[in-house]
Amino acid sequence: MSRYQHASFMTSAARPGQFVPDRGREVAFAGRSNAGKSSALNAITGRRGLARTSKTPGRTQLVNFFSLGSDARLVDLPGYGFAKVPETIRRNWRHLMQAYFSQRSSLSGLLVVMDCRRPMSEGDRQMLDLARQAGCPAHILLTKADKLSRGKAQAALLAVRRQLEEAATVQLFSALRGTGVAEARGALDDMLGFKKRAPETE
Ligand code: GDP
Repeated sequence: MSRYQHASFMTSAARPGQFVPDRGREVAFAGRSNAGKSSALNAITGRRGLARTSKTPGRTQLVNFFSLGSDARLVDLPGYGFAKVPETIRRNWRHLMQAYFSQRSSLSGLLVVMDCRRPMSEGDRQMLDLARQAGCPAHILLTKADKLSRGKAQAALLAVRRQLEEAATVQLFSALRGTGVAEARGALDDMLGFKKRAPETE
C-alpha cells in the first residue's frame, strides 16, 4: 500500500491563524476551479471521498490539510479563476495565498493541476511564480488526458514543457483512467523527501 493511501483529513483553514503547525514537509495542490484537482487528489491517495468536489466553484476558500503521517502532508489550496467570483472573495484568496506561500517553511513543493486542454492560465502562472518566490519546486499534472488523442496529449505536454522555466516538471494525468498516478506519486516522493522503495512494496 502506498503512503498516499494513508492520507487522513486534519483540518480546514479559512485564515492563516488556522493553519496546522509548520513542521516537517508538505506539498500543496493548486488548480483552477474545475481543472480536476479534487479528482487528482482522490486518485493519488486512492481515497474517493478525500477531497470533496465543490458544488459552487471558487466559493470555498479553504486550505485543507491532509496528514500522511510522520509530519508529511498534502495541502489542498482553494481553486481560482472562476469568472463569477465577487471581488471580496478574490481579495481574500490573494491574501490567503500570499500568507500561505510566505509563511510555510514546511512547504517543499507545489503541484499544479491543469486541464490539458486549457493549460497555463494566468492563475496557474501566478501559482508557479509564488512557488518560485518561495524557492520550492513545482510539478504540473496535465489532467483529463483521456479527453485527448495520444498525439494531441503528447503535443500538449511538449508545449507546456517548452514554456516552463527551471525547477518545474510536467506530466500527463487522468483521474478517470488512473494514467500517471505512479509518476505523480514519484514526484511527490521527491518533494516530500521520501526514499524510493521497490515497486513491489507499493
Ligand atoms: P476541481 O474543481 O479542480 O477540484 O475539479 P474536480 O476534481 O471536481 O473535477 C471537475 C470535473 O472534471 C468533474 O466533473 C470531474 O468528474 C471531471 N474530471 C476530473 N478529472 C478528470 C479526468 O481525469 N478525466 C475526465 N474525463 N474528467 C475528469
